[in-house]
Amino acid sequence: MDPDTLREIREAIRAIPDYPKPGITFRDITTLLGNARVFRAVVDQLVQPWLGAHIDRVAGIEARGFILGGAIAHQLSAGFVPIRKKGKLPYATVRVAYSLEYGLDEMEMHRDAVGSAERIILVDDLIATGGTAEAAVKLLRSLGAQILAACFIIDLPDLGGSARLAALQVPVRTLVSFQGH
Ligand code: AMP
Repeated sequence: MDPDTLREIREAIRAIPDYPKPGITFRDITTLLGNARVFRAVVDQLVQPWLGAHIDRVAGIEARGFILGGAIAHQLSAGFVPIRKKGKLPYATVRVAYSLEYGLDEMEMHRDAVGSAERIILVDDLIATGGTAEAAVKLLRSLGAQILAACFIIDLPDLGGSARLAALQVPVRTLVSFQGH
């Protein structure tokens, strides 16, 4: 990626100190999404490795992964699959529990959303500890999917999420990284 595009992407992400609690810097991508040129650049960069490859579906993690995942799926002429917080999907689901900083949560997919051996790309806006993405990988694999990569705009490498996915043999692609939490 050329350095000007990279700088534009970094600068379009708004940092909100001490949100949602003291010590956390929230990386707000609404400013990036609202900037037509930067939004397009991000989608172009994330699809770039897959142009010409056959991708069956893009799986997006609720909620910001839906915005990116829909655009990426369109560019790749792939289907889109939502991975949702529990209780939101109307049909029969598969479910997995995952740990948050305090306690547990669960995420779900429709059990017929992905077929066995389908080629899938997983998408979210940011990877921190990797707990959310790891749970999504487990769900997709429980349906037999082949996860070609997990893609994020932002990496917080100090929190270890990218390394955690790499340990699961999921290649990780991120565009920008920020130190700390
Ligand atoms: P994790 O499971 O720790 O990798 O957290 C990733 C999920 O939490 C993603 O869906 C992110 O959107 C959200 N998230 C975690 N940390 C931040 C942060 N500092 N700023 C914005 N979103 C975050």
